[in-house]
Amino acid sequence: YGDASQKIDYVFKVVLIGDSAVGKSQILARFARNEFSLDSKATIGVEFQTRTLVIDHKSVKAQIWDTAGQERFNVMMLDMRLFMVIHVKVDLDSRLCQAVMGDVSSVLMLWLEKRYRAVTSAYYRGAVGAMLVYDITKRQTFDHIPRWLEELRSHADKNIVIILIGNKSDLEDQRAVPTEDVNEFAQKEGLFFLETSALQATNVESAFMTVLTEIFNIVN
Ligand code: GDP
Ligand code: MG
Repeated sequence: YGDASQKIDYVFKVVLIGDSAVGKSQILARFARNEFSLDSKATIGVEFQTRTLVIDHKSVKAQIWDTAGQERFNVMMLDMRLFMVIHVKVDLDSRLCQAVMGDVSSVLMLWLEKRYRAVTSAYYRGAVGAMLVYDITKRQTFDHIPRWLEELRSHADKNIVIILIGNKSDLEDQRAVPTEDVNEFAQKEGLFFLETSALQATNVESAFMTVLTEIFNIVN
């Protein structure tokens, strides 16, 4: 799994996006370290992992970034508390703090929006690939895909290579999203599409290879 001494021909930044708990961090753990954990903790902030592979005799370092809307929202909430401690001079545990938190002023919302946008654009900056993940057992996570596509289209490079991933294919008995529906959607939107299981290591490698090879072909 990667050799630090080898010469790197390309570095491709790929971002993982999708609702919370769909399995983004486990897909990354499987790809980068061939690991899986059933009780994975929510990702705090942004992190990335790398793996170097060979495509067409060139060494390609895949730099995979992992976070989520939910996690980014948590960052926002932390910022909000900080703002109140500094500017409104309340202490973190006070009732006033809790009261004001429930009644966010428009100034505060504008400030937060700006911060949120800054964090979001930093995440997408320089990304050449995106893996848009939903959970095949949770319909809602698939229904949110158009929103994630919208965010991608407004923040990422317009030529970014996108793959749609239906994760947790091992839970076939709990399936809530039929494969045929997604095939049709992916075709219409011009996206690659695969169903994966980070747990059973099914198609995780293929999903990354699909994106990385497509990016490789575009730059060559
Ligand atoms: P994230 O919030 O999108 O990063 O989701 P996580 O990677 O933290 O995974 C959320 C939960 O789903 C964890 O309990 C994982 O163990 C579980 N999970 C992730 N991938 C799979 C999978 O392929 N199959 C099954 N059965 N569970 C999975
Ligand atoms: Mg995560």
